[in-house]
Amino acid sequence: MELIEITKKLNTQKRCINYLEKARWQEKPVCPYCQSDKVSAMKKQLRHHCNSCNTSFSVLVGTIFEASNLPLSKWFIAISLVMHAKKGISSRQLARHIDVTKDTAWYVQKRLRDAMQNTDKKLLKGIVEVDETYVGGQTKNKHKKVREALHTQGKVATGAMHKVPVFGLLSRSGRVSTQVVEHADGKSLKPIINNRVDRKSVIVSDGFGAYSGLNKKYRGHEVVNHEKDEYVRGAYHTNNIEGFWSLVKRGIVGQYHKITRKYLQNYLDEFCFKYNFKGEEKIFELFLYNALITNKVKPIATC
Ligand SMILES: [Zn+2]
Repeated sequence: MELIEITKKLNTQKRCINYLEKARWQEKPVCPYCQSDKVSAMKKQLRHHCNSCNTSFSVLVGTIFEASNLPLSKWFIAISLVMHAKKGISSRQLARHIDVTKDTAWYVQKRLRDAMQNTDKKLLKGIVEVDETYVGGQTKNKHKKVREALHTQGKVATGAMHKVPVFGLLSRSGRVSTQVVEHADGKSLKPIINNRVDRKSVIVSDGFGAYSGLNKKYRGHEVVNHEKDEYVRGAYHTNNIEGFWSLVKRGIVGQYHKITRKYLQNYLDEFCFKYNFKGEEKIFELFLYNALITNKVKPIATC
């Protein structure tokens, strides 16, 4: 659904609730507390009463919209704006669009990102590019990898925050997955590869030592040696994951400025979700489906 349709069709709390009820229950409400379908509608309150456990509930229980005083129509506009902002949208900008305070906009975005966590258990297959990068901080005049290594070891103190290592995996079918890590070394990175990549895949990486030995577990491990100015060898390169990193970094510099380590994964989840569903016409509906899968959403402070 496009923004114009959302503002026309989903402009009252009642319409929004009806829309979510259809999406979540296909018109057969189920009690979120005891899973009983013996429920009766309390139409005026836009709630339902469970005749099995004798509680009342709304469709918002367990979703990212729970315990929020913000009208759903504003939530829905926020979803559409966030989904269509390729490089992200700052809380200040979102606050202006939906007429809320910057803090409320920040909470809304935090919750939207919670719903964008990747819970897809399907393994990456085929040719899978892997690469590590560092987000945040600034240093000049040193070779890239040396600078980054010094930063993670805390030996160079420039800028507000040390660089945070992030690991990424990207399959040629266009699915990407990222993980903030403590250290970019084999001990940290290999278990992530083992959890997310099918053993019949061919892994492509640069010559970083942390990746050595992958050829024993996977169908192949192709190393593109950047140190020797080699960037592409036939189908083997890491251009896609590197392109993804530059999208992330441009977004962070342009829209989000400073991100603390605590929330970095949350921001990365947004970049991954949008990348994985890019070009998808029904991204609003897809997002809502994710937002209604209740078990991945941890309640946070109200907004
Ligand atoms: Zn119940």
